[in-house]
Amino acid sequence: VSIARVALDVPIDTLFDYRIGAHTVRPGQLVVVPFGKRRLVGIVFELTAESQVDNARLRFIQSVLPLDPLPADVLSLIQFASTYYRCPIGEAAFTSLPAPFRQPRYAPAEKQKSYSLPQSVRDALLETIPRRAILLHRIVDALSRAPALTREEARQLSPRAPAALEKWVKSGWIESRLTEVTEQVLDLPLQEDAKLSLTADQANALAELEQGCGKYSPSLLEGITGSGKTEIYFQLIVRALERGQQTLLMVPEINLTPQLEARFHARFDARRLVTLHSNLSSGERARRWMAAASGRAGVVLGTRLSVFAPMPRLGLIIVDEEHDASFKQQEGLRYSARDLALVRAQRLGIPIVLGSATPSLETFHNAQKKKFRHLRLSSRPGAKLPKVRLIDTQSIAMAGGLSEPVLEAIRQRLQRGEQSLIFLNRRGFAPVVVCGACGWVGECGRCSARLVWHLKDAVLRCHYCGHEQRLPLACPTCGDQDLQGLGQGTQRLEQTLAGHFPSARILRIDRDSTRRKGTWDGMLKEIHGDAVDILVGTQMLAKGHDFPKLTLVAIANPDGALYSADFRASEKLFQQLMQVSGRAGRAHLPGEVLVQTRFPTHPLYQALVSQNFPELAEQMLAERQQAGFPPFVAQALLRAEAVSESTVNAFLKRAAKEGATLIEGDVTMYDPVPATMARIAGRHRAHLLMQSPLRPALQRFLQVWTPKLEQLKARNVRWIIDVDPLEL
Ligand SMILES: [Zn+2]
Ligand SMILES: [Zn+2]
Repeated sequence: VSIARVALDVPIDTLFDYRIGAHTVRPGQLVVVPFGKRRLVGIVFELTAESQVDNARLRFIQSVLPLDPLPADVLSLIQFASTYYRCPIGEAAFTSLPAPFRQPRYAPAEKQKSYSLPQSVRDALLETIPRRAILLHRIVDALSRAPALTREEARQLSPRAPAALEKWVKSGWIESRLTEVTEQVLDLPLQEDAKLSLTADQANALAELEQGCGKYSPSLLEGITGSGKTEIYFQLIVRALERGQQTLLMVPEINLTPQLEARFHARFDARRLVTLHSNLSSGERARRWMAAASGRAGVVLGTRLSVFAPMPRLGLIIVDEEHDASFKQQEGLRYSARDLALVRAQRLGIPIVLGSATPSLETFHNAQKKKFRHLRLSSRPGAKLPKVRLIDTQSIAMAGGLSEPVLEAIRQRLQRGEQSLIFLNRRGFAPVVVCGACGWVGECGRCSARLVWHLKDAVLRCHYCGHEQRLPLACPTCGDQDLQGLGQGTQRLEQTLAGHFPSARILRIDRDSTRRKGTWDGMLKEIHGDAVDILVGTQMLAKGHDFPKLTLVAIANPDGALYSADFRASEKLFQQLMQVSGRAGRAHLPGEVLVQTRFPTHPLYQALVSQNFPELAEQMLAERQQAGFPPFVAQALLRAEAVSESTVNAFLKRAAKEGATLIEGDVTMYDPVPATMARIAGRHRAHLLMQSPLRPALQRFLQVWTPKLEQLKARNVRWIIDVDPLEL
């Protein structure tokens, strides 16, 4: 063995051969190699004795980065992802790698600051801390559990923890020193927890899941909000830790799940858990990555990119909210982290749990076919299910988008000092601006989209490309001054509510109102601190937050999605409605959900009332089967975009022609069509859809077709293959 085959972050789908020389190199190691005139970091995938290239022309590896090698299962996952999603191996490999490791001069910090608390002063220190300073108590707790707490570990408790520690050092309570960064042994006891009693449902599910231990065994854990899925995750994680195994717990969006993180920290010793997501500084990400790679971190809690986290002792994968579209990456390596997690679990031979209140139809179908074990949690310990009521807006007067029953329900909450949430998935004041005289409509010049009126800034804004213009004083076409905003956005709803309830404290939460960093945290505090009566918001509010005083959820205008061209629209709508409904009445107060709709007899709303997801899922699956949609077929899209419409169309036509000669077996290729959003930011978008009832047949086709597309040398066209696309 004298040659290493190395993946480099270049858009060429191949491994590059280098001579190893005097270095000691293992697969998975990060090495520095010369590439043209540059020096690049690469990942060793294979070692071999011979190269296709003349040995004399091969160059030498220059150095080996001082890092744990990626484990074999991660290398194999990257190779799978590269092939399956048609992405160059190097690009796939570097998708998840923290930025510092791409630096040829990378050197890990050798010393780190750590803090220790002499046992003798512990009680005295505790006496100086106010009872309500929960964070400070938690820090002391962590300090007294271990010989020392590193700065990084403290930061994981809270971003404010290092400052608190420094203050205690100054006042002489605790000691700080610089220590070598060495392997830490993590066989510390778990935090003692009050013995939790599981419901019968939970106990059954846990017992079944335990049977899957030690082999590939995929399970769907279906349970509504508040049914106790998280507790099952915790119990499984504890058992894995006891066996000396690591757990990968994936969530769709980490910044929407601070409560989950807090629950984790309350339950597990801080240093057992690392979180991994793209919102970290690159140095922080690198350190956490290393904690995972060395096996020190018992649990990795992360977003989709954590599916590639190196975990040498990985024994369990959990994907929470498995239906969430955020698990699919929409650029570069267009992978589904949920699907890759299944592949990883299968190759490692370990159990995987997919959790959701409203499983994706793909997952539900797999459970029906008995490919996945199907476990249900139907009760909601400690709280009743919210009562869902449909309000037929065709037979009732509406005032500014709100019906009298909704207004009355809000009024009652105000009297009782409870909170209401009005859900409307549309930002801005009015989604359309029209001229009452000539019918002119405000449209974005660069996108096939209408401009949304934002009242406070007095601008029209495009939600696709960000284009912004002042609201015209008169119609640009006929000069009439009667410009009207049609439809409801969150800003207008906020204004309407303020008119009805002048003394209520109203808080709007959407991407506009939370744009500045830190605002969102502040708003959460206001809600929890009882400083808000009525919340108006978009889907930002739907996920993961538990507001104890929230007892009313009103859904203002959900009908649009029912008649969307996207065949997944109703599935997504139901998921969203279930999620937002779950916000009502989680603690000791019963919750109520009101849905304003023109179609109260629609099966989707009926399922919401009966909270019967399985029945609706079966019905939607039957429709999909009849129409020949996923999960009954596998799909792939060739997406293309260019400034000129004819360039895009010409490219797709040539691609289709190439494809037609290569098609074998049961693969169907459709004609090129414009994308749903046919133009964004001045670029025309169109696509070509391929599908097959047999996934392997589609894969075989893509593998012969993609190299041909590269040979087309299409100028001025950006194109990409999107396998298992979520949006057309
Ligand atoms: Zn006009
Ligand atoms: Zn635009």
